[in-house]
Amino acid sequence: MCRSLLETTKPYLVTTLRIPAAQTLLLFSQSIDTNSNFSRLVCDSWLLLEFPVPEAATNLLLKATKLRNKWEELLNLRLEAVQPAVRDESKSASSAFRLERELSSDLPRFMHTEIVYTLKRLMAADLKRLHVGPGAGEFAPLCPNPFHPSWESCPHPVKGGVQVNSYLTYNCLLQEEVTQEFDTWHCPSCDMVASLSPMERLLHAQTCPQKQDNADSRMEEEEPPGSRKPNSQPFNCEHCQKTLHLTPTEILRHKKQHSL
Ligand SMILES: [Zn+2]
Ligand SMILES: [Zn+2]
Ligand SMILES: [Zn+2]
Repeated sequence: MCRSLLETTKPYLVTTLRIPAAQTLLLFSQSIDTNSNFSRLVCDSWLLLEFPVPEAATNLLLKATKLRNKWEELLNLRLEAVQPAVRDESKSASSAFRLERELSSDLPRFMHTEIVYTLKRLMAADLKRLHVGPGAGEFAPLCPNPFHPSWESCPHPVKGGVQVNSYLTYNCLLQEEVTQEFDTWHCPSCDMVASLSPMERLLHAQTCPQKQDNADSRMEEEEPPGSRKPNSQPFNCEHCQKTLHLTPTEILRHKKQHSL
């Protein structure tokens, strides 16, 4: 369906698609270039995605990179497994199993994310003035890098901006107007209120002391068997992909935490 839409002879294609084209592009593009607030993403230097709500685009992109990281990790484990000298076979098999399980629930959820955007094919004229170029759009090294746990971000030598993983370059797109002032932002986890750039918000979300899913995993992983309450029962949380031992009240509270 995408193909027939894109192979149109019309010079510009501007449309809001119901099919998850954005999700597909974010998962499979060899290169993704972004502006400073992630509202414009150029995939493989010829398709432009524009999102009216930058926060939603940021979340979608972040989810896509997490899925791609997991996928990469899984492939590496699979490749290791067929090599003769595997250090810890059972450990890598269980990690592979965990990753597979996570991907099989995360992927469909990602593809079904409701998001509004437009998709446009860039023309030769657009491509001539697409990037800010070397030396522009630089940004302090991202630490921790929200897009890849072990990739050291660095200025892109051709496009400008910062390369944050093997396919994603942040802040390398030319934009009509550059806003240096940012709206006040309210962190939903720790109640901090500050004027932060979209990237600074993302970095804060990674390191926020009150980060919601940090608290989650701490709570769920540190469950010594002796601490189980007498009326607790095994509860298989589909969201966490874990079996927890909780009382009926705790189960309700746990479910509610995912619906927030
Ligand atoms: Zn299609
Ligand atoms: Zn916070
Ligand atoms: Zn859960």
